[in-house]
Amino acid sequence: MSRATIVGSGPNGLAAAVALARAGYRVRVLEAAETIGGGVRTLESTLPGFRHDVCSAVHPAALASPFFRAFGLAERIDWIRPEISYAHPLDDARAAIAWRDIDRTARGLGVDGAAWTRRLRPLARHIDGLGDFTGNALLRVPHDPVTAARYVARMIDQSALFSRRALRTEEAAALMAGVVAHANTRLPSLSGAAAGLLLAAHAHAGGWMYPRGGAQRIADALVSDLVAHGGTVETGTHVTDLRTLDWGDPARGDLLLLNSSPRLALTHPDIPSRYAKALTAYRYGPGAAKVDFALDGPVPWAHADVARAPTVHIGGTRDEIWASENAVAQGRVSDRPYVLAVQPSVFDPSRAPDGRAVFWAYIHVPAGSDLDPTSLITAQVERFAPGFRDRIVAHHAVPASSREAVNPAEIGGDISGGVFSLVQAVRRPTLSPTPWRTPMRGVYLASSATPPGPGVNGMAGWHAARTALADAGLPHALADLFG
Ligand SMILES: Cc1cc2nc3c(=O)[nH]c(=O)nc-3n(C[C@H](O)[C@H](O)[C@H](O)COP(=O)(O)OP(=O)(O)OC[C@H]3O[C@@H](n4cnc5c(N)ncnc54)[C@H](O)[C@@H]3O)c2cc1C
Repeated sequence: MSRATIVGSGPNGLAAAVALARAGYRVRVLEAAETIGGGVRTLESTLPGFRHDVCSAVHPAALASPFFRAFGLAERIDWIRPEISYAHPLDDARAAIAWRDIDRTARGLGVDGAAWTRRLRPLARHIDGLGDFTGNALLRVPHDPVTAARYVARMIDQSALFSRRALRTEEAAALMAGVVAHANTRLPSLSGAAAGLLLAAHAHAGGWMYPRGGAQRIADALVSDLVAHGGTVETGTHVTDLRTLDWGDPARGDLLLLNSSPRLALTHPDIPSRYAKALTAYRYGPGAAKVDFALDGPVPWAHADVARAPTVHIGGTRDEIWASENAVAQGRVSDRPYVLAVQPSVFDPSRAPDGRAVFWAYIHVPAGSDLDPTSLITAQVERFAPGFRDRIVAHHAVPASSREAVNPAEIGGDISGGVFSLVQAVRRPTLSPTPWRTPMRGVYLASSATPPGPGVNGMAGWHAARTALADAGLPHALADLFG
């Protein structure tokens, strides 16, 4: 039986592990951290009984992922599918709300309602075609060219030249800016528009769901399937040099999949210099500085609907959000930063002791920044939720400079596996229709540094496993493995 060694137990590493174990490989996953799951972990990082998501919290793309559909993730864990995908509070107790129901969203956006639906309804209706286009290496003909063309047209419309004209009310402009700012890049920009439109389309398609009990449930479901198929996971095993790792013999069909930063591949003894040069040229982006808050009750938002939204984009108007993101691109942090916040306790009381709540928030910061974001985040939340400060009973901050200690794949605190630019959407991390394959025999990349990039969908892991199986002369479709 051939062996498959996976370095890293993030969602992509575990997706690859499950696929290879089901295809008959003896799979061993090596994980640097003491706990399993990488970006899908939930820990009591503040006080006992308060279960915080270490990284990802809300999973817009998870159940639309072909891998997770085949795996049956929807049935394996209990999902919360809120009516509100995300909310955006504004001053004077106003807010813009992205309801799952696009018509309800449009009604709340007044004169911009029609523009919102015109932009997003066709993308939401054809979310599978959109996922197919954005979810592969892009160097091939899309299965749904009409949706791909619409997406590109809206990206241009939403980027530098036209974005101010596109949505005129403060509410609609902020609602779009908040979702575009996920990209952690200069705004307005094509790459920001690309990320934002995809996320906004998911908001009105399946919605922005999250697992009851925390993101860890996703890792646990994958690990239980892996173990049922003979695989193992070893925690506390940081692989720093491939020359000293015994992963078997590629000539006998053994495989090595890297769910780490592609930088680890540079330690392979047989790496061709051209490939090493390409990996060295791959760029990492700005970082994230995060705080987990334990609260003695829900956040006292000034606008009632924001209290019903698991995901909240904080930062005020479109101009304020652009200024915040552009400051980061210039190596600074705004005094009033854009804050991405999640309040899982709104629909999941299991996350905190009775009547209490967990609150997750991060800001974008320059790479490697050691800024503790607690006071900036607290002030921004307080602006739209007076009294928030008094609800805090404990907090745990992780500056960007500490993220690599939490997860060695997050270079300089970059949580996207490499800067999300238009160039690096295609060259991820190298320009190839199969960027998961390396020139070293038996070695594959299986992380968000490969297409489709960041987000919890398992697709990079599946693509890496699928490529490895095809190279071994064992082509498998998802239906073969999970049918
Ligand atoms: C703060 C934060 C918030 C996020 N929010 C969301 C969200 O709400 N929704 C969403 O969809 N996505 C979110 N993301 C992004 C998402 O978590 C990632 O895109 C996703 O987890 C990437 O999956 P992956 O398997 O490629 O890598 P990761 O999840 O990063 O896992 C990589 C694993 O490999 C291990 N590893 C790396 N190098 C080595 C090594 N050399 N030796 C041994 N082990 C190693 C790491 O410890 C880690 O466990 C967030 C990320 C962060 C950090």
